[in-house]
Amino acid sequence: MKKYFLVIDQGTTSSRIVLYNNKFEIFDIVQKEFKQFFPNEGWVEHNAIEIWNDVRDLIFKILKKNKLVSKNIISIGITNQRETTILWNKKTGKPIYKAIVWQDRRTASFCENLKKKGIHKKIQRITGLEVDPYFSATKIKWIIDNVKDTKRDLNNDNLLFGTIDSWLLWKLTEGRSHLTDISNASRTMIFDSQKEQWSDEILKILNIPKKILPTVTENAYDFGSTKLFGDSIPIGGMAGDQQSATIGQACFKKGQSKSTYGTGCFLLMNIGEKFKLSKNRLLTTVAFKINGKKMFCYEGSIFVAGSAIQWLRDNLNFIKDSSETDKLYKKANKEEKLYFVPALTGLGAPYWNPKARGTFFGITRNTSREDIIKATLDSLSFQTFELIECMEKDSKTKISEIRVDGGMVKNDSFLQSLANISQIKIIRPNNIETTSLGAAYLAAIQSGYLNNTSQISKLWKKDKTVKTNISKSISTSRINKWKSIINVVNNFY
Ligand code: ADP
Repeated sequence: MKKYFLVIDQGTTSSRIVLYNNKFEIFDIVQKEFKQFFPNEGWVEHNAIEIWNDVRDLIFKILKKNKLVSKNIISIGITNQRETTILWNKKTGKPIYKAIVWQDRRTASFCENLKKKGIHKKIQRITGLEVDPYFSATKIKWIIDNVKDTKRDLNNDNLLFGTIDSWLLWKLTEGRSHLTDISNASRTMIFDSQKEQWSDEILKILNIPKKILPTVTENAYDFGSTKLFGDSIPIGGMAGDQQSATIGQACFKKGQSKSTYGTGCFLLMNIGEKFKLSKNRLLTTVAFKINGKKMFCYEGSIFVAGSAIQWLRDNLNFIKDSSETDKLYKKANKEEKLYFVPALTGLGAPYWNPKARGTFFGITRNTSREDIIKATLDSLSFQTFELIECMEKDSKTKISEIRVDGGMVKNDSFLQSLANISQIKIIRPNNIETTSLGAAYLAAIQSGYLNNTSQISKLWKKDKTVKTNISKSISTSRINKWKSIINVVNNFY
């Protein structure tokens, strides 16, 4: 009988189910985009029921399509968009409000107040995170404070909180498991990632009741099983998307880095087993805990990456498909000195300015669609470079190469731009679906198909290395220009 690992990769714009064979090659993928809600300026919501229905239906679909039954599935791994916050009623199984998405900025002024009171330092010391609307904490508080039925459900002990991982697990197990893994927990801004427990101190500051929170576990764990697809299937792996990609990219050694370019861009550098705070406004986050060994990483988050390409496609109608940007980049005018700061939903690391907005500099009568596309892709290279600089300062090590993945790295022009601006080696692996691959590895560890992370390292395979083809002095002068521009934008807003 053929055996597979089934991964649920629940992203920001689409949900995917990926089947891996026992050599960790992709056997099949099914995918569905879902609705995005923007009810107010800076607000972003998802319908958690729609997400669950899609995930369930996609699992049925992929099994049927491949004539498989639940017995063909060794174990399920879950990986997910992180921080996105759901509160639901455990009696009805229904969310009491839409899922508030990580990109949502509605709690910006509340976060500003925490900073004015100086509380952010304490929160950073405990969680490793910057106080920002990005994380779940202030989103939970917003729902509790603003949704009518919360108090009633709370008093009746019917209210549960979870990020997408917990929500999907709870639904898969029909309410039997209310768990989250340590990588997802470390993104909530209420989790003490050194003590590995919810922080009573922060919960008190935000007035969030502990009883609604899930139990936190390692990444490869017996999360329960699902009986919704026939015989029971164990759920053995769970990690937030960026940590899962770090595992999929086999960044298990201190100093190894990966950068994912999906809806947003996330650069993570393994910093070893010790929790260290950044002095350059990066986040310290749990990379994973596997077989009792916990590793931390620095993380730089750029909120807008592939979503800027979607904006070029959907709002400006410049392209029909994001893949066209590769060819159009090559047609851009090399003399054009156009810069774009794509702060469409604020600026992430190292600026942390939720109020910043997108800005073009240097538009001329000659500026074309191709130039705007080039400026958009280059902006991600500049931002990546700034994160590399912060990481090198914090870790006091030189980053010589980065492993890249995510939808955007199919674009060779973009990879060349990254190598040129950063002046370091950019390495694309064979499987750029590293997010789902990481969750498959976790499920494999839990089910005994793999024993440890060294076995994962041996499975990692390179597809392509891209090196710079411009001089360091040219890249430095362009970077200096970029820095002066992004500072203008940051100071303006
Ligand atoms: P997520 O997992 O966050 O949903 P993916 O890793 O699937 O994202 O990447 C999808 C993103 O990558 C989309 O925003 C899309 O616009 C962008 N993208 C996909 N292919 C290309 C390409 N060839 N060039 C530039 N951007 C691309």
